[in-house]
Amino acid sequence: MAWRSSGASNQALIENLASNGLITQARVKQAMLGVDRAHYAPASPYQDSPQPIGHRATISAPHMHAAACESLLPYLRPGARVLDIGSGSGYLTHVLAELVKPGGKVVGVEHISPLVELARTNTAKSVEGRALLDSGAVEYVKADGRLGWEVQGPYDAIHVGAAAAGQNQVLVEQLKAPGRLFIPVEEGYMQHIYVIDKNEDGSVTKKKDIGVQYVPLTDAPEE
Ligand code: SAH
Repeated sequence: MAWRSSGASNQALIENLASNGLITQARVKQAMLGVDRAHYAPASPYQDSPQPIGHRATISAPHMHAAACESLLPYLRPGARVLDIGSGSGYLTHVLAELVKPGGKVVGVEHISPLVELARTNTAKSVEGRALLDSGAVEYVKADGRLGWEVQGPYDAIHVGAAAAGQNQVLVEQLKAPGRLFIPVEEGYMQHIYVIDKNEDGSVTKKKDIGVQYVPLTDAPEE
């Protein structure tokens, strides 16, 4: 369905995602309208497809970013704390920050230094993005995201933007109760999204969702 939602402007892309049923919630639509994907995707920013951003990373397709926001939305309240693992271009980190305004915080974790810098540069391209960086509402850190980022946790929502080898217990531990983890998991030649909820009583519920194709979570390359 990728081609169906592409548009000539950010607004057209988001409107098309909404009319194709890929964005259903007004808050998600509002947040995605507020972040120009051209600040994050080096080519064809208004196409509903992933784009290379260097270092073997890609900015995910807009419909996948929409799916992640829609899934995590009940936990993306003003003041919420969010972890975005494999923050890459910084696009989703910025959108998530729009969804937890005011008072919220999103930490983007990325293990390739030039991509940490790229995300900062991209976020600083807009007035809104600069304000998020200046206030600390968005922070990018260089770390191995497979370990989460415990110092700023626990989190209301954790998004993982690269496919994990298994369902990561460390990340579940860094969730609040209640809290939600959205994670692509490799299963043989396939990958599926798992939506893992830590419930108010601390119990954990797992739901297998759609089949996907993400780049893998890996060891950091030599720098
Ligand atoms: N959400 C990002 C996705 C980028 S692709 C975007 O849409 O722009 C996945 C990212 O995960 C890449 O930038 C890659 O460098 C990063 N990554 C892979 N393994 C990682 C790890 N172990 N720790 C942190 N980041 C990792």
